[in-house]
Amino acid sequence: MLNEDSSGHGKEPPSSPRLDALKEFLAAGRGFWAKISETDWNDWRWQLKHRITSLEQLQRLMPTVTPEERAGTLLANTKLAMAITPYFFNLIDPADENCPIRWQVIPRIEETHTAPWEVSDPCGEDSHSPVPGLVHRYPDRVLFLVTDRCASYCRYCTRSRLVSNASGYDFHPEFEKQIDYIRKTPAIRDVLLSGGDPLLFSDDKLEHLLSQLRAIPHVEFLRIGTRIPIFLPQRITPGLCAMLKKYHPLFISIHSNHPRELTTEVRDALGRLADVGIPLGNQSVLLRHVNDDATVVKALVHKLLMCRVKPYYIYQCDLISGSAHLRSSVRQGLKIIESLRGHTTGYAVPQYVIDAPGGGGKVPVNPEHVLSRNADRVVIRNFEGKIFEYPEGPDGRPLVAAPKRIEEPELV
Ligand SMILES: *Cc1c(COP(=O)(O)O)cnc(C)c1O
Repeated sequence: MLNEDSSGHGKEPPSSPRLDALKEFLAAGRGFWAKISETDWNDWRWQLKHRITSLEQLQRLMPTVTPEERAGTLLANTKLAMAITPYFFNLIDPADENCPIRWQVIPRIEETHTAPWEVSDPCGEDSHSPVPGLVHRYPDRVLFLVTDRCASYCRYCTRSRLVSNASGYDFHPEFEKQIDYIRKTPAIRDVLLSGGDPLLFSDDKLEHLLSQLRAIPHVEFLRIGTRIPIFLPQRITPGLCAMLKKYHPLFISIHSNHPRELTTEVRDALGRLADVGIPLGNQSVLLRHVNDDATVVKALVHKLLMCRVKPYYIYQCDLISGSAHLRSSVRQGLKIIESLRGHTTGYAVPQYVIDAPGGGGKVPVNPEHVLSRNADRVVIRNFEGKIFEYPEGPDGRPLVAAPKRIEEPELV
């Protein structure tokens, strides 16, 4: 049985000054770009054009660049490019070497340290591609990669082999072939657009794709995986929302890792998506220096609910080359889930998964709540570590009580 003291369950107070501070919604604001006009700042194309992509720009804005970051940034363009939108850059605390935002987007020399078990395609996607840019791993759904570009590049990207086009993968999806495969495969009822980031497309280009997919009778469900609402909330325009609305049922999975990413700008952008009826989910990656801490994750999931986003998955970091400095442990991931389940809103608890190395797909990993089973009961543990029994027959059928003897009335 789990010892309450070692796991800490039932002991954690429901709120603390640290949790409250992490949960505050703040504006990213204008920071270094105070003199830029409102029109430019709120124009997503302006944000993309003014991304921080070189060491010179980085050092100009942040004199506290460390030697590890300097060396990493110089090498980034041969592996996974650096790009940070001005909006997102404002979330970095230049005075804090351990800023959780900084670790996610500024390259480090550790990215060049690779172990034999780290690879460029950790989820075995290329071997599950019937046509380039389409990953068909699960029976009834496909991952449709539409672009190799993102608004900013996450340093632990599982698809860094192709994303940003820095390592010579030469990603050239042919939408006609991808759509053809889906059209000819009636088992596919769910299409997940990802990349790269699909919301980098113009409204027209994205609509062209969505309308072709919607025209396929067996495609019931569409979804988009995107980090744009976090990196570039300016992209979530009323025009985009009005277009997306026409393709329901359409879900969006966003990607946020730290509560500080949920700014007032992001909350507004997510609100615009929710207002056009798009159910929103969030995917996080468990990352050292960023969010492998129960209080940080709790603040994140609470803020997500306040933004009408359901925490969907939290991923163990894939074994992507050069990611050891960002990877946390499965043990820590399980502890974090333990700290949530039962202690807070069920809707706030994401499913913790490991995308099995080599291509086995997502495998759920859960703290153990079923302690044992025997001939007449299942023994379970609750969130406080208390033990309960549920009576059940060995074959899973309900146990039936022995019939009560009924006194027959005496006939006189
Ligand atoms: C994650 C993933 C999906 C979607 O999985 P869900 O559990 O349905 O969200 C589909 N295809 C691939 C290749 C994936 O990696």
